[in-house]
Amino acid sequence: MTTVYLKPHKEESLKRFHPWVFSGAIAKVVLDASHEASKPQEGELVCVRSAANEVLGVGHWQIGSIAVRILAFGLEELPADFWNERIRAAYQVRNAIGLIRPDNNTFRLIHGEGDFLPGLIVDVYADTAVVQAHSVGMHVYRNEIAQALLDEVPQVKNVYYKSDDTLPFKAAIEGEKVGYLIENSKLKINNSEEFWSLENGLFFRIDWLRGQKTGFFVDQRENRALVERYAKDKDVLNMFCYTGGFSLYALRGGAKTVDSVDVSQKAIDLVNINVSKNFPEATNHTAVAADAFEYLSAQKNAGKTYDLIILDPPAFAKHRDAVKNALRGYQRINAKAIEMIRPGGILFTFSCSQAVDKEAFRLAVFSAAAQVGRKVRIMHQLHQPQDHPINIYHPEGEYLKGLVLYVE
Ligand code: SAH
Repeated sequence: MTTVYLKPHKEESLKRFHPWVFSGAIAKVVLDASHEASKPQEGELVCVRSAANEVLGVGHWQIGSIAVRILAFGLEELPADFWNERIRAAYQVRNAIGLIRPDNNTFRLIHGEGDFLPGLIVDVYADTAVVQAHSVGMHVYRNEIAQALLDEVPQVKNVYYKSDDTLPFKAAIEGEKVGYLIENSKLKINNSEEFWSLENGLFFRIDWLRGQKTGFFVDQRENRALVERYAKDKDVLNMFCYTGGFSLYALRGGAKTVDSVDVSQKAIDLVNINVSKNFPEATNHTAVAADAFEYLSAQKNAGKTYDLIILDPPAFAKHRDAVKNALRGYQRINAKAIEMIRPGGILFTFSCSQAVDKEAFRLAVFSAAAQVGRKVRIMHQLHQPQDHPINIYHPEGEYLKGLVLYVE
């Protein structure tokens, strides 16, 4: 195997179990005999050693400022049952924390570094696991990962691979980036009339073929449950609703009315399917395909107000250099929402931009409140749920943050 030697003292963070080796920390790379090229291949397994030749771990080589992502610390090679062992461990955690129940078969099984599998995301929807590789290394192992999912997760019968948007776009990648790796169950599947995934007793149609990311935003489960607690008798606006997660919980919580808004017509179609499945009699739900800024301005001009607004926009900053504009965007959209909240109303506001930290987001919302001039208090500070764990040595894994505001 190829060996990567670090510069002196650059082993410190690996010894603290931070899983990334930056290219600047590398002294030299000694290729094994199989190489014709002068560099390791993107995605191949390499062994990382300190300047003093101590084994630090084995990981995936990649091209870019993060050169290696460690899979196993202190080992020269991956153990034979590596994928099964890691997936079994992740499943046991989800089971132990009570996420796997007859009324809940929707959960994130693998959250990258948070489950000690950097570059890998797996979401489970009833009998189907949707796998996303963010590194070529994970792509290379996709079939082993699929088999381990089938072996270790009792409910999984199908494994769908969806990495066309997540693999490094410059990498020379062999093999398909999208498609079923394992296809067993007749009952599956994406957007078919029979397929339903259950989250806290609510049914969701999940379309992993055409939907965003892996098809569903599992990360808002706990925050949706909190909306249910506050929804009784309220007029609710669920802005950026996607497939209507927050809307279903608000309806179950006894909301007076729920308006769901998303710019995507496909999302709105799914919201309507989900509402009719769970609340066939409901006459108090409306779904509209519209741009958030335009919708809020038009409603405001029409004198409309709400008791409870949820703002869960897509990541406004996908990269560090976009943070400034993103913060302006968060301030603008939050100001528009705060303006439309009735006295004594509540705003649930979120940011899923990893590059925007908690403090910066809070400051943007503070600026919005100050701009509108309302008296605003923070009731809850929200974050990603327990199946999106953050490796304590890898704080970069924290991305979702939210505030629940009481607006006087
Ligand atoms: N709250 C959702 C997830 C939201 S994801 C849930 O719980 O599942 C962000 C959503 O914002 C996407 O569905 C996307 O279609 C929508 N979106 C993006 N830009 C928008 C815009 N300008 N106006 C309204 N919706 C937008």
